[in-house]
Amino acid sequence: MIKLHDKHFKPFLSEAQIKAAVKKVADQVAADYKDETPIFVGVLNGSFMFVSDFLKEYQHPCEVSFVKLSSYQGLTSTGIVETLLDVSEDIEGRSVIILEDIIDTGRTLKKLIHLFSKANVKEFKVASLFYKSEIYNGEYTIDYVGIDIPDKFIVGYGLDYNELGRNLKEVYQLNQKHMINLVLFGKPGAGKGTQADFLKDKYNLKHISTGDLFRYNMKNDTELGQLAKSYIDRGDLVPDEVTIKMLQDAVEKNPDASGFIFDGFPRTTAQAKALDAFLTTKEMKIDATIALEANDEVLIQRLLERGKVSGRSDDQDESKIRNRFDEYNEKTAPLKDFYEAQNKFHSVNGIGAIDEITHRLAKVIEEL
Ligand code: AMP
Repeated sequence: MIKLHDKHFKPFLSEAQIKAAVKKVADQVAADYKDETPIFVGVLNGSFMFVSDFLKEYQHPCEVSFVKLSSYQGLTSTGIVETLLDVSEDIEGRSVIILEDIIDTGRTLKKLIHLFSKANVKEFKVASLFYKSEIYNGEYTIDYVGIDIPDKFIVGYGLDYNELGRNLKEVYQLNQKHMINLVLFGKPGAGKGTQADFLKDKYNLKHISTGDLFRYNMKNDTELGQLAKSYIDRGDLVPDEVTIKMLQDAVEKNPDASGFIFDGFPRTTAQAKALDAFLTTKEMKIDATIALEANDEVLIQRLLERGKVSGRSDDQDESKIRNRFDEYNEKTAPLKDFYEAQNKFHSVNGIGAIDEITHRLAKVIEEL
């Protein structure tokens, strides 16, 4: 395990695995281009090691050039791709092969293709040492791939985390073992949102509330908001496929989070199963599901009070509230067994002063 800035990284690919992948790409390119003199264009900064080792494996006539683009800041792709250095050689009528260290979402690639679209090249191909097929947008064909890797933040062999790690001979991946992922469980009005606000600061976690996400989308009148509105207005659950996708997007937007509080999700067994499967692909897991317990009459009073302040239509009408409880009893309550079977279910008394309840939750978390 190594530490770069504030993060820990664990070994992912050995020197030998990388060398084999580089050779594979070089051999495939050679099979197609050894009889002409292609121009290889390395994409700086990350690809410098790949280009160097690639050329050692590619012992045929060729020229080499570089472009410099940037899109990562820290652990998240900013989406801003700038061209900092252009290809100067006369490339008209030549075969150009881009040498990328890694292709993930495909944003950088789009910019590159745009950059070369005006040049009248003979052929334009893309070779990438690492390739995250899971998240690649699929817009353009990647002609040569070294290794298909899962959607993990990696460093080493030219790749950096805030400029550190480029000189490592091996590739390391972000170690997320120390994450805490919690599900806050409980009926509407049980205090999940209120408690999540305290816990997220106390334990440096990212709070994801599916209810808040829906409300945000409704407020901004997005397609998702319009879709969810009719269900939410009635106090029904929004269909699983919509909610699961929204939740996954929210997690993916926070690759550097040190853990998550899931509030209001999962609410059905299908959602719980999808969450487990999704977290597994990220080498993450739920550490605990904590239920805030309170009886219906207390909750109804709380929700009606909240409705006066928040203006939430689903909090203002007792019949809608009761429908939400029915949805909970029928679809969400069975999750208790689901998490108990995994030994992850904890129950906390949700009646009392806010700080007392936070204290009860903290006790559970600290014993994990
Ligand atoms: P909440 O703020 O968590 O009480 O959620 C408000 C409403 O959003 C719910 O009554 C549902 O209509 C919808 N909603 C929130 N989370 C989910 C979920 N996990 N599955 C389905 N619907 C949800």
